[in-house]
Amino acid sequence: MMLPLISLSDLPPEGRQFSGEIRPDLFGLPGLYDPLFVPPLKYDLTVRRDDGDVIVEGSLSARFSLQCSHCPARLLWQVRIDPYFSCEEQEDDTLDLTAQVREDILLTLPGYPRCEESNVEPQPCQTEGAFAPESEFVPLADEAAMESPRADIWKALDQLPPGGAPPAS
Ligand SMILES: [Zn+2]
Repeated sequence: MMLPLISLSDLPPEGRQFSGEIRPDLFGLPGLYDPLFVPPLKYDLTVRRDDGDVIVEGSLSARFSLQCSHCPARLLWQVRIDPYFSCEEQEDDTLDLTAQVREDILLTLPGYPRCEESNVEPQPCQTEGAFAPESEFVPLADEAAMESPRADIWKALDQLPPGGAPPAS
């Protein structure tokens, strides 16, 4: 729980505004090449009840460091969702928007970003000749590409019955 817990029974009919900044990493993505949260996340949301639903409107912004899909560098990416809209089912009296906000922000991140596509500091992508020899990024991709067809061949060979093809019936 990172965003303030919202007590729904206390909400006035016109709704209530919640705004602030979050610095702890509520994204917590573990991988070496995963997006890395660069604090803060800023939120400015109005929450109101509408029959059995809870309407959340406002804006969100957060910054990430992303792994370039073409070179070993990372690039900065600014997320700004304005207007933000979410409709939540009213289940309990308290509503925690953290999981929904986290997911909605992650869904906006580009899947295969490139250095020159950064919306903060576009940089020319490093060329292939500039790869450090000890870089794990590219050799891994090359090995995977070269080994998979070979592995398939061995797998196919393993499946042949001893003595060749099965006798025709
Ligand atoms: Zn790049």
